Amino acid sequence: MKKIKLATVWLAGCSGCHMSFLDLDEWLLELAQKVDIVYSPIADIKDYPDGVDICLVEGAIANEENLALIKEIRQKTKFIISFGDCAVTANVPGMRNMLGPAETVLKRSYLELGDITPQLPQEPGIVPELLDRVSPVHEVVNVDLFLPGCPPNAARIRSVIEPLLKEESPIMEGRKMIKFG
Ligand code: SF4
Repeated sequence: MKKIKLATVWLAGCSGCHMSFLDLDEWLLELAQKVDIVYSPIADIKDYPDGVDICLVEGAIANEENLALIKEIRQKTKFIISFGDCAVTANVPGMRNMLGPAETVLKRSYLELGDITPQLPQEPGIVPELLDRVSPVHEVVNVDLFLPGCPPNAARIRSVIEPLLKEESPIMEGRKMIKFG
């Protein structure tokens, strides 16, 4: 049986959604029979591969690196899931949008509030440039399914992945499936 190529990606988020994915516990063993994890922060794979079937995207789009990666993901992936409230609404990382553009945010955080040797973080090629505005994933690329929650609990994650593996559509209805927070 051909295995589904599954990727999980960590953009601007706290990794809590990935922790919730790991809460799938023993079901992960069952999942491993049906999918190949081809890219994930829990696997040491450097490049996003071609021909990914399903990708869970945690986090918002906050910097140049996130932006380049999500565009590459869209090109190489059949089905993208906005995974958790940061991906769906920008949530916590998006709170900085209230302060203004990137320069204002950086000055406030690293100069005005820097107690010891205030300086801006700059290391081209290592520290990615912040975007002026943090965006939810669907504002940048098309998303195939929204999976809200901060984080979505393991049962909700399973209720989405399980039908997709059978080429069925998850039923995204009711408090159990679409409650934010
Ligand atoms: S949705 Fe919540 S748990 Fe997931 S990355 Fe954002 S803050 Fe963390």
